[in-house]
Amino acid sequence: MDLASAQVLRAYFKEYYFRYGERITEPTEIRSREFGYSTFDGQMIRHLSFEDIGALRALLLKEVPAGVYCSNSLYREPAAEMHRKGWIKAELIFDIDADALKLPCRKEHDFWVCKQCGKKEMGLRPETCPSCRGNRIAETKWACRKCLEGAKNETFKLLDILESDFGISGKQIQIYFSGNAGYHVHLAESPLDELDQHGRSEISDYLTARGILPEMFRTTKMSPQDPGWRGRLARKIRDMPENDDQSANPLKANTFEDRVKELAFKLSKSESEKILLGLFSELSVKIDPMVTTDIHRIFRMPETLNNKTGLVKKSTSDLASFDPLNEAVAIPDESSRIKVLISFAPKVELCGSSYGPFVENGESVQTLPPFVAIYLIAKGVASIAPPPEQSITSKN
Ligand SMILES: [Zn+2]
Ligand SMILES: [Zn+2]
Repeated sequence: MDLASAQVLRAYFKEYYFRYGERITEPTEIRSREFGYSTFDGQMIRHLSFEDIGALRALLLKEVPAGVYCSNSLYREPAAEMHRKGWIKAELIFDIDADALKLPCRKEHDFWVCKQCGKKEMGLRPETCPSCRGNRIAETKWACRKCLEGAKNETFKLLDILESDFGISGKQIQIYFSGNAGYHVHLAESPLDELDQHGRSEISDYLTARGILPEMFRTTKMSPQDPGWRGRLARKIRDMPENDDQSANPLKANTFEDRVKELAFKLSKSESEKILLGLFSELSVKIDPMVTTDIHRIFRMPETLNNKTGLVKKSTSDLASFDPLNEAVAIPDESSRIKVLISFAPKVELCGSSYGPFVENGESVQTLPPFVAIYLIAKGVASIAPPPEQSITSKN
């Protein structure tokens, strides 16, 4: 990122922390947590600890970090090196990212740039550039409204399993929009806090249905009222649409009883297991297992800015009605404009308006509300347009 763009981005972050720093609340047991932050020139500073939230807010205004992070783990010595910290326990965290859903809309908004010949195109990254056959290709991922809805839907699936299979009540569950393309779910003070990495990976396997054996479910002995995966699968089979020619339903029968008989007796073992695996894949939650199992991470703090978008990692108590493209805009002020040079960008939807796509050959100059300009700069697809006199000087 060029200096002028980085300065504008940093100034926006500073203004946000100046205006809204009070929204960042003190995590429980703050003195036992590790903090860290990243800078706009790409450094990461870790192993910090704070006495209270006031000290952290002061750092935000002084340093204006690109990203601010806090551990889900509690330590006896949070500022010590990792192996000397003395791990006590850690809240369980789940990360859902739209990119992992591999939705068809990716083709409409992800794009790639060949680093060798400069060719740019919408769509998924090819193996080699069709123009120059080079393989140094950078791809940029975008999250559209459909992607964010998909991530929200996964979050609902996660909440359902946590509540019905793990008995975790809604009050213990905190939900956050990540500020980019997904959601983070934190369990506060749950009995699972003391689980080690192995225990956490068991939970992750359960949620993602990893290693599930379809032959165990090739039986007529299942009912929609059953607990756990068996009941979940039974409800899915019961609720599949009627099979007509247009339906994607792979089963011919149309009642629950006939469908389980079809799976258990009529179809071959391999056909039946293929269908069951497809259903488990739809029912499983697309969390990132690495995030859930790693107990030494620091996570972006709620109400701080995501440097990949300039949006807020935003808490929500009503996921169904939450609109990240509106509610996570850091400073929704449209009274001024910023002039930017956009190299290439899919459509952006923020605060109820849409901008672009900007996919002309060559750069396009646009005058945009600050939060849109910041989004594009943070995504790495725009830079601050130089003032006219400067561009004349540079031509001389
Ligand atoms: Zn090329
Ligand atoms: Zn999308």
